[in-house]
Formats: sequence, C-alpha cells, structure tokens
Amino acid sequence: MRIVFLGPPGSGKGTQAKLVSQRLSVPAVSTGDMLRIAVRTATPLGMKARAVMAQGELVPDDLMFGLIRERLTQADAGAGAGAGASKGFVLDGYPRTIPQAESFEKLLAEDGAVLDAVVNFDVPDPVLVERLSGRADVERRADDRPETVRERLRVYHEKTEPLVNYYRGKGLLVSVDAVGGIDEVAQRIERGLAARARQGAA
Ligand code: AMP
Repeated sequence: MRIVFLGPPGSGKGTQAKLVSQRLSVPAVSTGDMLRIAVRTATPLGMKARAVMAQGELVPDDLMFGLIRERLTQADAGAGAGAGASKGFVLDGYPRTIPQAESFEKLLAEDGAVLDAVVNFDVPDPVLVERLSGRADVERRADDRPETVRERLRVYHEKTEPLVNYYRGKGLLVSVDAVGGIDEVAQRIERGLAARARQGAA
C-alpha cells in the first residue's frame, strides 16, 4: 500500500501514520522528522531548512524532492526511480504543495507505481490551535510558538489544502473526521482505507 496522509499541523497525522505503518508493515515516512534530524545534525539540507521551519514556512520543493527520492529508494520502501519492487509506505507530511504532488507522481511512475489512497485529516482550526499550543513540554517544538502556529495554519490553507481537491479529482481521497481519541480516529482510518480498497478492486 502506498498511502499519503494529508492534513493540517496538529491533526494527529504522525501518531496515526505510525499505527497504520505497524498494521500494514510498511514504513512510516515523516518528512518533518527527517528535516528535524537534518537540522539537529547540521547537514547541508538542515542548514537550509532550519530558519524556514522555525518560521512555519515550507522548505523549497526541489529540496523536498531530493529528500523524498532518496528515502523512498531505500530498501524498506522500494518505490521510486530504479528501485524495483515497491513495498509501500505511509507518507506523513509529503506532498504539501501541488508542484510536490506532481513531481511525486512522476517519481512513482518511473517505477510503474501509483498511490493507493490519500487520507485527509479533517480538524477545525480552533481545535488545531488548542492542540498545538497545549502540546506537553516534552513534545513541544520550536515551531509550536503561537505566532508560528498561526503561520503554519495559514501556509497549510494556502499551499496544502488545495491538494484535497487535487486528490479528490483523482479518486484517491479518503476523508476522515480526525477529532476524537487516538483509537477512534484509527478505526475511522481503517474503515476508510478498507472502503477505498474495495472501490479500487471493483
Ligand atoms: P511537520 O512535522 O510535518 O509539521 O513538518 C515540520 C516542518 O517541516 C514544516 O512546518 C515545514 O517547514 C517542513 N516540512 C515538512 N514537510 C515538508 C514538505 N513536504 N514541504 C515543505 N516543507 C516541509
């Protein structure tokens, strides 16, 4: 299964991506986590991404493309240029713009692969603001400051939300009400993916 998780910051994508990854035995790939590691270890990518992330803006598309191509050609995912048999993935945080979605589609196509589903996490803005500003100290991040949270939401609506219609048009969208407990939302995702798989098979 090749699945993309789409949703605003604070919608629980990361938590749910890990659960689905365990259930389906495919890697959960979080571009946010990969970037945070790059920043911490001060790689060339990390040096470029650092300020952008701290301001709640998006890392440029070409840098993201390089990162995702490298990650998905690793053996556990096996999707992308010349990577042979695809094992699948749950992508958390990529693509985040229409151009990213377009170049990602081409990358998969080089390997004869397509996405199976795009899960959209539906959460109203006020709930997101409350969740992000209420993150426990241990998990709070530099980009959880109130000004940055507002900016991340603005950027989400401007750049990422158009992907909802983009993927709906491709018949890939599974929209999930993501307000609720972790188990409750996990069940909705499981049901949504199962329904989508039945449609795909029909
Ligand atoms: P996340 O943990 O997914 O919310 O990502 C944290 C930050 O990393 C975002 O606010 C962006 O600055 C950056 N980032 C993660 N994924 C992407 C992407 N696909 N495109 C651009 N920037 C990204």
